[in-house]
Amino acid sequence: MSVLVFIDQSEGHIKKSSFEAASYGAKVAEQLGTTAEGIVLGSVTGDVAALGNYGLKKVYTVADATLNSFDAQVYTKVIAQAAANADVIIFSNSTTGKAVAPRLSVKLKAGLVSGAVALPDTSNGFTVKKTVFSGKAFANISVTTAKKIIALNPNSFNIITTGGTAAVEPFAATIDAAKVTVTNVDLVKGEIPLGEADIVVSGGRGLKGPENWGMITELAQLLGAATACSRPVADINWRPHHEHVGQTGLAIAPNLYIAVGISGAIQHLAGVNRSKVIVVINKDPEAPFFKAADYGIVGDAFEVMPKIIDAVKKLKGA
Ligand SMILES: Cc1cc2nc3c(=O)[nH]c(=O)nc-3n(C[C@H](O)[C@H](O)[C@H](O)COP(=O)(O)OP(=O)(O)OC[C@H]3O[C@@H](n4cnc5c(N)ncnc54)[C@H](O)[C@@H]3O)c2cc1C
Repeated sequence: MSVLVFIDQSEGHIKKSSFEAASYGAKVAEQLGTTAEGIVLGSVTGDVAALGNYGLKKVYTVADATLNSFDAQVYTKVIAQAAANADVIIFSNSTTGKAVAPRLSVKLKAGLVSGAVALPDTSNGFTVKKTVFSGKAFANISVTTAKKIIALNPNSFNIITTGGTAAVEPFAATIDAAKVTVTNVDLVKGEIPLGEADIVVSGGRGLKGPENWGMITELAQLLGAATACSRPVADINWRPHHEHVGQTGLAIAPNLYIAVGISGAIQHLAGVNRSKVIVVINKDPEAPFFKAADYGIVGDAFEVMPKIIDAVKKLKGA
């Protein structure tokens, strides 16, 4: 038995979700009485050996420049080679994980559980808990294939630091030429990536127009948060589409989600109901979002938000 964790990176920086996947993989390995190893593709600027701090004993690197741009088919083939001796392969259920894990599952004839939220139960077989119906329910999936793949939902497993250092070993892989050519990449710079954020401040149609978004971005800046929005807000171009959360947008699971002027339609909740704490600010006491909220403020956002911003400023001495 051995466990292989795919370590995802962007622009050479290892993503926070990969630290979660590594911590999770180390715990799975512990359960199975084995060790966890990682694989990272493309050039990484950080210290790969430091992944030992999250429980990995060894990290394989494939530093070929062609892997700096993501191609699901090429990635799948490289990871399949590295996974030849692995019994459990772990991904973060990120955009990359969602593209690669199913392909790898077919290639290796390995059972896949995507959207896992807990460690496997190995007391009788191998059963993994995952979210279903856009996070409204859980299912326990029993995996019976020899090789198993788990794609772990971001923010569903705590990062565990162990203080170790991983051995780093280049992995000689056969790398196919990409069948898809990336002609340009537009990167959103200087913002906290929404999928990785601990805190998210989000606005809906109740904010009346894009000119009022200053209070969302100001609170987000003060809290070190990412900004998000409901779908209609993105559809009418008040905010960019990459901020749209929900059933048809990004599904997120921050520690704190602050929803301002959002009704809480089921399609919106589908993308945010895994947040640990939800705070809702809405002037309508009957707004459905209050049913899903941990804390609710019934009030006009234009009166409530400046008060919250002032209070946070005072707290921070800003
Ligand atoms: C197939 C499908 C997929 C969808 N996918 C998504 C999705 O992924 N994400 C998503 O968000 N939506 C999605 N929707 C749309 C969804 O059904 C709702 O229409 C949408 O979420 C509503 O957005 P909203 O809450 O910003 O706007 P509204 O429904 O207009 O709600 C505005 C809220 O602001 C409050 N408000 C107004 N003024 C103030 C004020 N001054 N202060 C405080 N509160 C105020 C109101 O009381 C109201 O509750 C989808 C719909 C369909 C049919």
